[in-house]
Amino acid sequence: MSHIVIVGGGFAGVWSAAAAARVRGDGAALRITVVTPDEDLVLRPRLHRLDPQASRVPLRRVLAPVGVEHLRAKVTEIDPERSRVVAGGRAVGYDRLVLASGSRLVRPGLPGAERLFDVDTAEGTARLAARLAGLGRFTAVVVGAGFTGLEVATELAGRGDVVLVERAGVVGPELGPEPRPAIESALAELGVKVRLGVGLSAVDDREAVLTDGGRVPADVVVWTAGVRASALTAQIPAARDELGRLEVDRRLRVSGNVFAAGDVAAAEADAGRRVLQCCQHAIPMGKVAGHNAAADLLGLPLTDFAPDPYVTCLDLGAAGAVTTTGWDRRIRLTGVEAKEVKDRILGLIHPPVDDAKLILEAAGTPGTGVR
Ligand SMILES: Cc1cc2nc3c(=O)[nH]c(=O)nc-3n(C[C@H](O)[C@H](O)[C@H](O)COP(=O)(O)OP(=O)(O)OC[C@H]3O[C@@H](n4cnc5c(N)ncnc54)[C@H](O)[C@@H]3O)c2cc1C
Repeated sequence: MSHIVIVGGGFAGVWSAAAAARVRGDGAALRITVVTPDEDLVLRPRLHRLDPQASRVPLRRVLAPVGVEHLRAKVTEIDPERSRVVAGGRAVGYDRLVLASGSRLVRPGLPGAERLFDVDTAEGTARLAARLAGLGRFTAVVVGAGFTGLEVATELAGRGDVVLVERAGVVGPELGPEPRPAIESALAELGVKVRLGVGLSAVDDREAVLTDGGRVPADVVVWTAGVRASALTAQIPAARDELGRLEVDRRLRVSGNVFAAGDVAAAEADAGRRVLQCCQHAIPMGKVAGHNAAADLLGLPLTDFAPDPYVTCLDLGAAGAVTTTGWDRRIRLTGVEAKEVKDRILGLIHPPVDDAKLILEAAGTPGTGVR
């Protein structure tokens, strides 16, 4: 029996599996296995709200109803020449591979780095939430004023004194000029102090030391800067971009019988842009890669990846949110109205569970349903 192996149980992996199961239907002899050590799909866009339990969806409730196996193991080796991966010390052969092993925050090598907190994983968020729970009103330094740093800083602002540190000369350097005034006024409204043009050089249990020599009292220092694709991408002989992502074609094929989706894949989005490492792209990429892996094996037509137009929804804690459309991020909504959109998105990224019909239907709709 032919075998599709999907490495990773995040958005891309789960939706690859469901889409492959949809193509298989009832008749075809096709085995589909998701390999990941995790028991849960982690809804990473919820993690900044510091409720890690609400960010977990048991994988068995999405995979089992649609007849997808789950091998609970970490992949340590990919051998494309022999079409096999090594997981938990055991070789697993594949006819098609979908690499969907995602991304991880890169931790800096600075004195005290082991004291840094993060919201990159459910475990990281649980550790931060547990630390804050014991503190009452706290002081926090958040390093990096990109998307994640802004969301964490504004979330923490209601509960403590927050300093946001950014190496660039502006907040949200990658978000562009359009949403910046809305972000700046939210930070001011929430009392978040901003230190621009400086980085972090060391951390101890009472303070953060900045690159200009300044010292900021901090019960917690949260690191948010720099995300890279899973190191497994290096085991596939193909071109990679500066984030370590594999170059893929419109069908999300890397080459031969290997596909890639989500944060490990540098696919073309629209308007000549590459996808971003976001679930807005990871979900539809997963659906296309899984569909194509199964269609390729069954001799059916393959489909192109063509994502919905790019949108952003940045959470700004008690100051609401800001939603934008397009790559130049034209503001659509701010404040309470934008917050309602954010809350809706955080609900919509939760996949249907337990019901095969709903899961397979959702796997067949392009996009995230998040618009
Ligand atoms: C705090 C935060 C906020 C975010 N907010 C947003 C947002 O508002 N909007 C948005 O669109 N995106 C947001 N993102 C980004 C989004 O979460 C990611 O783009 C998305 O999770 C990528 O999905 P993925 O399936 O490619 O990878 P991941 O979610 O990283 O999942 C990868 C999976 O692969 C598994 N894996 C890794 N290595 C191995 C291995 N060796 N063997 C087996 N399995 C392995 C992992 O355990 C995991 O199950 C946010 C991310 C964070 C951290």
